[in-house]
Amino acid sequence: MFPYPSGMLHMGHVRVYTISDTIQRFRRMKGYNVLHPMGWDAFGLPAENAAIERGVHPAEWTTKNIAIMKEQMDKLMLDFDWSKELATCDPKYYRWTQYIFLELYKAGLAYQKEAEVNWDPVDQTVLANEQVDHDGRSWRSGALVERRKLKQWFFKDLLNDIELLEHWPDRVKQMQRHWIGKSKGVEFDFPITANKDMGHLTVYTSRPDTIFGVQYLVVSPDHPLISKDTLPTEHAEETLAFVDNLKSVQGKEEAEQSKKGAFTGLYAHHPLTEENIPIYVAPYVVSDYGTGAVMGVPAHDKRDWEFCLTNKVVDELKFVVEPAIQEVDKVGTSDGPFLAEGVLTALSGKYKGLKSKKAKQIILKDAMEIGFGRPATQYRLRDWLLSRQRYWGAPIPIVHCASCKVVPVPKEDLPVELPLDVGFSGRGSSPLAQTEDWVNCKCPKCNGPAKRETDTMDTFVDSSWYFTRFTDSQNESLPFSSDKASSRLPVDVYIGGVEHAILHLLYSRFLSKFFFKQGAYQDTPETKPGNGEPFNVLLTQVWDINPASPKVKATGEKTTVSFEKMSKSKYNGVDPVNVIEKEGVDATRLHMLYKAPPSEVLEWDDTSIVGMQRWLVKVLKLAQSSTGSNTTIPALDSMTQVERDVYRTTHQTIKQVTEAMTNTFGFNTAISDLIKLSNTITGSNLATDSPVYHHAVQSLVTMMSPMAPSMAEESWESLSLESSRNPCSSVFQQPWPTWEKEALVKDTVDCVIQVNGKTRLTVSVPAGSVTDATQMEQLTRATPQGQKWLGDHTVRRTIVAKNGALVNFIL
Ligand SMILES: [Zn+2]
Repeated sequence: MFPYPSGMLHMGHVRVYTISDTIQRFRRMKGYNVLHPMGWDAFGLPAENAAIERGVHPAEWTTKNIAIMKEQMDKLMLDFDWSKELATCDPKYYRWTQYIFLELYKAGLAYQKEAEVNWDPVDQTVLANEQVDHDGRSWRSGALVERRKLKQWFFKDLLNDIELLEHWPDRVKQMQRHWIGKSKGVEFDFPITANKDMGHLTVYTSRPDTIFGVQYLVVSPDHPLISKDTLPTEHAEETLAFVDNLKSVQGKEEAEQSKKGAFTGLYAHHPLTEENIPIYVAPYVVSDYGTGAVMGVPAHDKRDWEFCLTNKVVDELKFVVEPAIQEVDKVGTSDGPFLAEGVLTALSGKYKGLKSKKAKQIILKDAMEIGFGRPATQYRLRDWLLSRQRYWGAPIPIVHCASCKVVPVPKEDLPVELPLDVGFSGRGSSPLAQTEDWVNCKCPKCNGPAKRETDTMDTFVDSSWYFTRFTDSQNESLPFSSDKASSRLPVDVYIGGVEHAILHLLYSRFLSKFFFKQGAYQDTPETKPGNGEPFNVLLTQVWDINPASPKVKATGEKTTVSFEKMSKSKYNGVDPVNVIEKEGVDATRLHMLYKAPPSEVLEWDDTSIVGMQRWLVKVLKLAQSSTGSNTTIPALDSMTQVERDVYRTTHQTIKQVTEAMTNTFGFNTAISDLIKLSNTITGSNLATDSPVYHHAVQSLVTMMSPMAPSMAEESWESLSLESSRNPCSSVFQQPWPTWEKEALVKDTVDCVIQVNGKTRLTVSVPAGSVTDATQMEQLTRATPQGQKWLGDHTVRRTIVAKNGALVNFIL
């Protein structure tokens, strides 16, 4: 995932890009044509805030930050293909973001409707959520922020295909499912009793088996029912005052927390119980989701239970479902709602005794017959509100004309460029809306006077398709060519922080599937995951810093320190440049990869980084000590015992490291295996001019190189000079080492010897001898320990277990 150019890489970035750099170097050495690009998610609020606070233009601030971060990336030895570099704030890029907006508009997927924004009544400006503090006040003016309605742009129909995502972490898939929140249920229509003209309230439920437990209905504060004309006079004033108070952010939060609602004075008729039930208004019901009305079933829903108690809606709760198995005399309780499915009680009339599952079907059928209800599917997911009343974003390519209304800017007129000469006061409408010679334009349709749309796009739009642009970043006639995108997509491995797991991935999937459906790129039957899904393997990281706990000087006791999760807006992190300068880039990279597998929490603690520094020095010394070359490695059966052992360990390590890096991205186990190999070489007493020695060190250096590029290159130079083979070659031009199956076969086996069932000693025996009882006895008696335990005794019986790894002599 590409970063926001905040001006400083944090350790979370270092981890993400070290992992991706390691994978790409490894894959390249394996012979793949890898695309490893980098770009900048460069629109957004911090740049605009810098402009308001410090008077520096967002463009200037962003360009400077990008330069700093590029330098930091170079220090980390991150090998990116800079020829593909892009920045979302560059007109050459956002021209295509606008083009994609127009495609969505043409397909009927971009539309306008009213939605709430945060409004600062003092500065007369719209605020982002981040600009409203915990008390509901504006970050600049300190005024209590209000909720106001504005006409804004949305994308609709975000999609679903989660079952295809085989290589995504389960928790990320769960988050996506939860967010989309697909549920199947029933919609019921409750007629409003006041008069026939008021029609009915439609509510959705996934639990039609509790329909007899409906004791009230609740509508959203901006439901059409909530007006002076429709509310009964004796309730109107109080209800409208309650709703009015919700318009301040604080009033709304208070009401939400206290579960407060207000009785409207209106009633609805329940066609099955024949009762009239009260209609309430409460902020937890939202108008732009579902039908803007919900049913209240206090005996079977936790929120409804709390709402009913807080607002004293009814005296007696109706338990209409009970557990299938329960204690006698315990029908309905006052301890809390019964949430599970079960069996319908006598309160459900003729449905009494039916199990919930069956009751759902029959109640739906009956409701359809009397015109009370119908089947319905609901998604928790709302449409994507992409309008931002800010300057530093891609302008929405729309023109408003008095006679032609909403007119899309013709594609040949793109990009609609952001004017650079604007003022940043942080007050009034956005800088764009205040730039009159930009706002006023000609209508593309009738040539009459018109005004540009002054909203810019949510930065999530920019970042939902950049990976597609990477396949063809210089294209000047299209966002990307079909051929280039088809040959590269989907992204094989997508790596980034888990905090992007919901919206960024959801929106990226939405746009990618849209391109795919429009035929903008194709896949093959073998493409995984397929169906326009953008990412095959997803590696997400959780970040945690845990430096050694400080101690209280006087007592020596450890203090309790809590650390906030790191993020780009917090400066409480470890500065990667300091760490690299102090510890070295390779040691930092290795330490980071070694401390945790890519998908697990990494607790950054640099106290043990010294272990990696020592190992790097050890590898360099091994490379410098080798005086042979590996051009004449002897055949397996003519090697000395020491050579065989080192050769076998070398090939065993090649196998394990290759498998770990290919299948599980287990860099921590790969490093651990490489450390063991270096220990084997050092401890072997193998002559430093032996071709086997050279081969082992060369394999070690090559396998280390994706993770520790500088020290590997340095070591490689020593090795190449010594063997006088092409001294100018780079380790990264070497093919990845392969293992020989025959070399893995062990020629001796460590066999555990028991005497009368008790473990006494271990003997090393030739692999072919283990199942031969007579030979095993001879070999055991030949050792001093064996003599001690077997002595002059006759072995009556020999039991060979575990393919000879365990032998028991019965005396
Ligand atoms: Zn017009």
